[in-house]
Order: sequence, then structure tokens, then C-alpha cells
Amino acid sequence: MRRIGRFAPSPTGPLHAGSLVAALASWLDVRARGPQARWLVRIEDADTERCLPGMDQRILAQLAACGLLPDEAPEWQTRRTGLYQDALDRLVAAQWAYPCGCSRKDIEQALAARGIAHARHGERVYPGTCRDGLHGKPPRAWRFATSKFEAARGAGLLQWNDRRLGARQQAVGREVGDFVLKRADGPWAYQLAVVVDDADQGVTDVVRGEDLADNTARQILLQQALGLPTPSYLHTPLVLAADGNKLSKQNGAQALATATPAEALAALQSAAQVLGLRPAAAAAPAEALASWVVEWRGLYNPPP
Ligand code: GLU
Repeated sequence: MRRIGRFAPSPTGPLHAGSLVAALASWLDVRARGPQARWLVRIEDADTERCLPGMDQRILAQLAACGLLPDEAPEWQTRRTGLYQDALDRLVAAQWAYPCGCSRKDIEQALAARGIAHARHGERVYPGTCRDGLHGKPPRAWRFATSKFEAARGAGLLQWNDRRLGARQQAVGREVGDFVLKRADGPWAYQLAVVVDDADQGVTDVVRGEDLADNTARQILLQQALGLPTPSYLHTPLVLAADGNKLSKQNGAQALATATPAEALAALQSAAQVLGLRPAAAAAPAEALASWVVEWRGLYNPPP
């Protein structure tokens, strides 16, 4: 089987020290598998409101400066919405998805009436108001019928293995609930788009930041509901900001400086360190990357 990995940045800001870790790790994981393996870049611009104009090209240029070149032309999610609609249609036909007419306020009130404030992970579990019909409300969003699907698959607990974090599990219906597939304001939800794209592009190995690990169980459920294969998962360590939170634009992540090869190399050296790789005695990005490919094989053991 041909191994395919990908880096899937959202063009909400330029690449920073944290996102480069995921980019480098996914690239190394592919290159460590040999010449047949492919590394793809997918611009995750489905949530159009959060995207900033020109950021896609800026990210691609930053990746190129670091020697991280995709093996095929990049894809943009906004050009792939027909695939997401097809997938939603299939879920609706199988009765694993349903329309929801609840506003945020409706949800708050229904939760308050049940004495429920917060679910684990700070996520609000949808109280299921529209599960059995819209009660005369116009449809706003589409949701996955999580508990119903879990009952059909015969297990409420989803278990999976992360190549770095080890055995993980989540009771998605109880902890997350009927999550959104298409939002009331229009955009396709990340969960659906990423599952459809990874399968359509033949992605066999997902390597991404640990902040996304909690999404994996939802994505595996969707894969199962759509009859799609489940890739392997490896979630990389996060770069923390001074406030102890994940480094992000909101808490001061600087755009990665990649204007010169020396800057790009320095950025790569920092990302490599986060991944547990040794500093490369290299004069340019390509040389450093080549040495880390060898080291990656020993650390993460990717099958060819
Ligand atoms: N677009 C997501 C992000 O930038 C990554 C999604 C993924 O790798 O599954 O956080």
C-alpha cells in the first residue's frame, strides 16, 4: 500500500513555531517511509470567515523555504465542497445525520433545564432537541447522530491508538454529543471536511499537533459511518507560549522568519528539538532534513 501523509494548515495566519512542528513531523514521517510515499498539503479554508487573504500562499512559501515541498499540487477545501455535500447526503440517507433548528440560546436553555452546564473538555453536549424532528423550527445546522450510531455499532466507547500518545479512548456520545457537520452559518465543519478529504486523498497516516488529538474519536466514528478506512494517527508535542497555553496567534506566536536559508534552518532546528530530534550539523535546510529522516525512523518506526 502506498503511504500518504499530509499537512493541513488553516490559512488563519502564517506558519509559526508551533505549526512548523506538525509540518516537519508529517513530512519526515512520509520521507522516512521511502520514495514511494507521498506528502500532500491541503489548505483547510472551509471555515472561510476565519481565513485571511493571501495566507495560503504565505504558508506555502514558508514551507518551500524550509524545504518542505508537497509531492502534488496543494488542494483547497473551498474547491471541494461537493464532496462534503455528497458525504452529508449519504449520512442523511443512512439516518446518521439530521437537521437541527436550535439557536445557541435554545441549546443553552435546554441544557439549563436539565441542570447540565459543561461537558468534559469544556465542550457543550448538544441536548438532542432536534434528534426526533425539528418541532416546527427551520433547519439551521446538520448534526451527526452520535449516540444512535454508537448504539448501532454496539459500543459507546471508541478506542484508538496514537503512535506517540498510546492507547486513547473517548465516549463520544456522552462526552461530545451530536456534533455539527455543517454549521448554521453555512461552512462545512472541520470534522466532516477532514474525514472526507483524508479518505478522498488516500491519506494513510495523519501526523498533526496534539491539540487536535481530541477530535480523533469523532473522526473515526464518521469514517465508520461513511464506510471509509481509518488512517494511523500520530499527534506531535505542542509548542507552549509564555502563558503555558498552546502557542497560537492569539497568545503572541510570531510568524516564522524564513526569508533566508539560515532563518529557515534555525526555525527547523527548533521544530526538530520539540520532536526529540538532535540538532543537525547542517548548513542548509535540505541537509538537516536528510539527517532527521534517518533519525525519525529510529524514533517513530514508520513502516515502509
Ligand atoms: N486545519 C487544522 C489546523 O490547522 C489541522 C487539521 C488536521 O491536521 O487534521 O489546526
